[in-house]
Amino acid sequence: MPRAFQIRPLRSGAATLYIVLGDQLDRQSPILGRLDSGADAVLMMEVARESEHVPSHVQRTVLFLAAMRHHALWLRDQGVRVEYVRIDDPANTHAFGSELARAVERLGAERVVCVEPGEHRVRGEIEAAAVEAGIDLQILDDTHFLTTPSEFSAWAKGRKQLTMEYFYREQRRRLGMLVDEDGQPAGGSWNYDSDNRESFKKTPRPRQAIEFEPDAITHEVIQAVAERLPGLPGSADGFAWPVNREQAVEALDDFIEHRLGRFGPYEDAMWTEQRTLYHSRLSAAVNLHLLSPMECALRATEAYEAGMAPLNSVEGFVRQHIGWREFIRGVYFHEGATYGDRNGLDDDGTLPDFYWDADTDMACMADCTRSVIEDGYAHHIPRLMVMGNFAMLAGVSPQAVRDWYLGMYTDGVDWVTTPNVVGMSMHADGGVVGTKPYAASGKYISRMSNYCEHCRYDIKKRTGDDACPFNTLYWDFLIRHRERFRKNNRMAMMLKNVDRLSDPQRVEITLSARSLRDRFGVTRAGT
Ligand code: FAD
Ligand code: SF4
Repeated sequence: MPRAFQIRPLRSGAATLYIVLGDQLDRQSPILGRLDSGADAVLMMEVARESEHVPSHVQRTVLFLAAMRHHALWLRDQGVRVEYVRIDDPANTHAFGSELARAVERLGAERVVCVEPGEHRVRGEIEAAAVEAGIDLQILDDTHFLTTPSEFSAWAKGRKQLTMEYFYREQRRRLGMLVDEDGQPAGGSWNYDSDNRESFKKTPRPRQAIEFEPDAITHEVIQAVAERLPGLPGSADGFAWPVNREQAVEALDDFIEHRLGRFGPYEDAMWTEQRTLYHSRLSAAVNLHLLSPMECALRATEAYEAGMAPLNSVEGFVRQHIGWREFIRGVYFHEGATYGDRNGLDDDGTLPDFYWDADTDMACMADCTRSVIEDGYAHHIPRLMVMGNFAMLAGVSPQAVRDWYLGMYTDGVDWVTTPNVVGMSMHADGGVVGTKPYAASGKYISRMSNYCEHCRYDIKKRTGDDACPFNTLYWDFLIRHRERFRKNNRMAMMLKNVDRLSDPQRVEITLSARSLRDRFGVTRAGT
């Protein structure tokens, strides 16, 4: 039976309330070294607003709450007082700000401390509540990350373009990862992506990723979520995510032993009904801070040194953790609170319904969206080159797309979702994350997957009823934006092809794209 959470009033006097948010379940958290367990308390809050401000997948919600409850028990085992507000507590006001105010008053706390939240909105709520309560608030750097926002800004200062590859090389040198004594890269190259673009010629048979049966605490959360938040998308059926540190370490072991070796070559490949392939599925556990990025990267380099995995796989995995993940977070804080509102391509289309129900005749989109709806997961390429690509080509609003990604994936947290969607995938940030849009026709999907083999659309056609919609929308995208991209050298080849089209061809593409948007339910102002 799960243990009950006790509420004990704080000793009057210099009591500090330490907030631990659901994505800060770090056993090395900087608050633990400061906390006086005799006088202070940790406040943890399960609030409905976090699952409702964007509709949050049931598995995402359950994962956060189950991991929080496990962490609360661990904290109590360390002798820490935990003031825990449950989702089904009748007194719960269901927002961080009002819950903090309630706790401050109830416990007579004199000071509030928290680690930097991963979302500007949440930080704003906590700050406002502290001001309202007339109480001191201290915000600490989040030591889970390898780079502080101010270190990133110092790196970014004066650069015309924030190029991840340069940031990553500096990280490698700074952290001494896969570099020799002279700071040169292991194997002679910084990046082995050219070895990492393989697709499968026949059905791949990777070993299934480890799954975790929900325990009593998780079952209790599933029940509470079903009762308190009945309208959320997705279902808890098949919930198998790691919910505590021990399970997360097992998931990391499982990846290192069984999938890391082939991670590199097949990083970009997709296959029908195979969601994980050789990916790690660790992002949710790392984002909740059940694992640290450093330990993930170190485990991979140790596997390389032990001859268990090749350099192209290990370097790729290390780059994701110490490069991309840190870079993305750096951009989020460096660009500020309005970054997520950017709309560099002026897109305002509605998100098609099939993102919510997978009901589409495009084989690739049906399989990828089903994976998210059923599992709260898809690896990077379905996110970027299928679901994100479609949304950008069709002209969907980047904020509508961001909200869908943020709520529907178990690893959705604003600092990481927003730059990946608004920047990398929708190219709406004015070129901060990527110098050119990740726009691709169906040819890319056909090369990297088996989807087109059993799709009702013809991958070779550009227009017409049976033409691959990605082809039609890709050409339409280039036609619509060609003047905007004219000065972008990296787009020159693509634009040359558009310039070669005759006027009637352009009109045909434009009209076909318009009718596709109508059919798929992408409504844009003025169309
Ligand atoms: P693997 O392929 O095994 O990669 C290893 C780890 O590297 C991941 O677990 C993750 O922690 C890290 N990583 C890799 N790429 C990135 C990246 N671009 N940004 C940050 N971390 C990265 N990642 C999230 O964690 N949360 C999100 O909400 C999220 N939204 C995304 C939206 C779009 C449109 C795109 C294109 C990417 C998004 N990503 C997001 C990044 C990446 O796709 C996921 O981290 C990855 O697919 C998670 O699966 P995995 O753990 O099997 O990753
Ligand atoms: Fe997707 Fe087009 Fe291939 Fe169909 S033909 S699976 S829509 S890329």
